[in-house]
Amino acid sequence: MKLCVVGTGYVGLVAGTCFAEGGNDVICVDIDAEKISRLRQGIIPIYEPGLEELIKRNVAEGRLSFGTDLSSAVKRALICFIAVGTPPGEDGSADLAAVVRVAAEIAAAMDGYRVIVNKSTVPVGTAERVRQVVATRTHHPFDVVSNPEFLKEGAAVEDFMKPDRVVIGAESERAVELMKELYSPFVRTERPILVMRTASAEMTKYAANAMLATRISLMNEFANLCERVGADVSDVRRGVGFDQRIGHHFLFPGVGYGGSCFPKDVKAVICSAEEHGLDFKLLRAVEEVNQHQKYALVDKVRAHFGEHLRGMHFGIWGLAFKPRTDDMREAPALTVIEALLQAGAEVHAYDPEALGEAQRIFGSRVHYHRVNYDALKGADALLVITEWNEFRRPDFERMRQLMKQPVVFDGRNIYDPDEMRELGFTYYSVGRQSVRP
Ligand code: NAD
Repeated sequence: MKLCVVGTGYVGLVAGTCFAEGGNDVICVDIDAEKISRLRQGIIPIYEPGLEELIKRNVAEGRLSFGTDLSSAVKRALICFIAVGTPPGEDGSADLAAVVRVAAEIAAAMDGYRVIVNKSTVPVGTAERVRQVVATRTHHPFDVVSNPEFLKEGAAVEDFMKPDRVVIGAESERAVELMKELYSPFVRTERPILVMRTASAEMTKYAANAMLATRISLMNEFANLCERVGADVSDVRRGVGFDQRIGHHFLFPGVGYGGSCFPKDVKAVICSAEEHGLDFKLLRAVEEVNQHQKYALVDKVRAHFGEHLRGMHFGIWGLAFKPRTDDMREAPALTVIEALLQAGAEVHAYDPEALGEAQRIFGSRVHYHRVNYDALKGADALLVITEWNEFRRPDFERMRQLMKQPVVFDGRNIYDPDEMRELGFTYYSVGRQSVRP
């Protein structure tokens, strides 16, 4: 099938590439000419495992190309995906300006039947709004489909190739059949394609993210209570996770959720509910707990060292909002680093992929290191913010020798407290008792 994908971010680039890998002819379009020019030179704008190889292969085999000319891409395609950003507006509601603009541009370029598929995360009613925008600009027939994306950054290619389910919101049989055909190579292992009304598809995406965010905030609250009453949240997590009604996923406490999706989608649901006269109290609490949790580690730093952090040296391991990505949007590391800098501390940061992004955000206010141990030379403490695998079994002896004080604040519970005590560290984690050598 001939496809065009508008927006070459985490979603559009991965979706376009994977559709090409499935044998389709795909043009990925973006307004960011610099990004497109780099993609054409084989420079991939994001870090996502497996993506670069797939892009190179599909470009070489002529199934995948990149451009800025939306009009000619639409003329060549039967199915047009909208995968542009839907960032929070000032009030927290999803800003649909880019979606609406792209819908209008697709309409203006149409020369026959098209399926216009919205992949961006959008409030209920957006498919209908897109339908109206397109209908006022073309007399050609078209269908609007809502096809929310559930991929996880860091495992995006794998998630796209083997989705747990594909959700298709459509009001037309013709569009449903085309979408089923398009997705058939990705659901061969009995993965379901769920067909529903567009409104339900739009809501499904928000409900999934809201539910995951709720689990995280709930576990973070239990972690904070565990610390105060002498319980260990890791034991509690395992204890509840084996209940089949609960399961083990998304029960890990930490320094709060971040990224481009959970924070903005939780806010968007709260706003959408308000617009319809509903106070979504639970999600307001989820959001408030998360904001608070981002300071959990800094509070522990202050409790240990006192209020005066001026001139102290903190090593930071992990900047991305989660492992295997370079994405720092709403990352807890932003809050932690800003709080330490405001207190006059010196911050020495390391991340396997996100150093460039951090440099763009903090400039010369932070010291960046290409080797994780270098961030620890003369450090008063280490703060672990992202649970990259390479941090799990470091050379503890080397760390202790490099650091001025052997103090670790672990925001992801990746070390064992007893082992850390034996290794001579003062060790703080989340929802577990702190230990001293
Ligand atoms: P992104 O910011 O990484 O990429 C968006 C891209 O769209 C950018 O390259 C931008 O230049 C381009 N763009 C903006 N306006 C445009 C226009 N008028 N014409 C052409 N291109 C335009 O965003 P993302 O993370 O890929 O997210 C896209 C959507 O998918 C959002 O609604 C997001 O909530 C949703 N989503 C994201 C993820 C994720 O993990 N990132 C997962 C599922 C769903």
